[in-house]
Amino acid sequence: MNAIANGEAAAPYSTRIATLRSRFAQHRIELLLVSSLPNVHYLTGFSGSAGAVVVTNRTSVLFTDTRYDIQAHQEVRVSEVKIVKGDAFSAAAKWSRRYRERGVGFEGDTVSYAAFQRLREFLPNKRLVAVAGLVESLRMEKDEGEIEQIRRAVDAGSRAFTETLRYVKAGVAELDLAAEIEYRMRSYGAERPAFETIVAFGDHAALPHAKPGTRKLAANECVLMDLGAILGGYAGDMSRTVFFGKPSNKAAQMYRAVLEAQLAGEEAVREGVTSASVDLAARRVLERHGLGQYFTHSTGHGVGREIHESPRIAPKQKMRLPERAVITVEPGVYITGFGGVRIEDVVVVRKRGPEVLTRTPKELIVL
Ligand code: ZN
Ligand code: ZN
Repeated sequence: MNAIANGEAAAPYSTRIATLRSRFAQHRIELLLVSSLPNVHYLTGFSGSAGAVVVTNRTSVLFTDTRYDIQAHQEVRVSEVKIVKGDAFSAAAKWSRRYRERGVGFEGDTVSYAAFQRLREFLPNKRLVAVAGLVESLRMEKDEGEIEQIRRAVDAGSRAFTETLRYVKAGVAELDLAAEIEYRMRSYGAERPAFETIVAFGDHAALPHAKPGTRKLAANECVLMDLGAILGGYAGDMSRTVFFGKPSNKAAQMYRAVLEAQLAGEEAVREGVTSASVDLAARRVLERHGLGQYFTHSTGHGVGREIHESPRIAPKQKMRLPERAVITVEPGVYITGFGGVRIEDVVVVRKRGPEVLTRTPKELIVL
């Protein structure tokens, strides 16, 4: 799909590249070689599977190979496009030689050791600076167009989830429900699932990242589902836990505690608060219910072009949430041999508080 069909014009790319340049000085670089594909996509609009972009103070150039000749010219509005034979990263590095500037930044957290050696070979006279998380930090603050895309992805997931509930019946397999969810997300415009859909029954739900299998649903079991669609290049992410047959008192209590924690976490979201404070708001509720030890992961994560991106919503994360960051709030309780409950929404950080994008209700559902 080209950039125009995606509803994206040139403006966001010019803004993103300009913002990136404004950060060069603090990293003591005059040129940045971007090779992480979600970052390449963010800066140029190019969605192919091989490419690198060089950004200098004067220009930005996308390098990709002959397979993407037509696509790159359709998608890229602001950067210059160079089609090369073979490896785009090497071509971008060689091209960077022509610049007099000495400070060359590269993405130290994603460039392989072999690629780094090539950089050294092609740019012997440059000062190579490993910058980590630079484009990622820009990506954290979404623009309204991006938030709209995430809202669409979230809606596709919500609709798929709601429609799949009618298949929650005795004897259905975890894999059947996962297939149903993924099929329905695609029918609502998803390009693909954002991650492997999780469907887990009964005590299998005690594994936070359970892999759906052939296990068949029996009476009085919980059904934990975690799903997300990629739509227009952006990810959604939601978890819901429903009960097939009347939940036991212990299970119902667990559900109420997780829901209370999830609402408290969401309520804590606003511009300027630390990630840790959102995590703590949810964690504290579960601790008060005596379930703190069963909440074994962090409360959430950023979501956007990738299913997991900055910021991390976890203990000790001192970073303050910027306006328009998009995060998940997803506390859970997992008791070995018993079961698990997780409830997850996608939330936009706003000045005055949270904007919850996930419209699916969260009251306990008994089927
Ligand atoms: Zn999830
Ligand atoms: Zn998540």
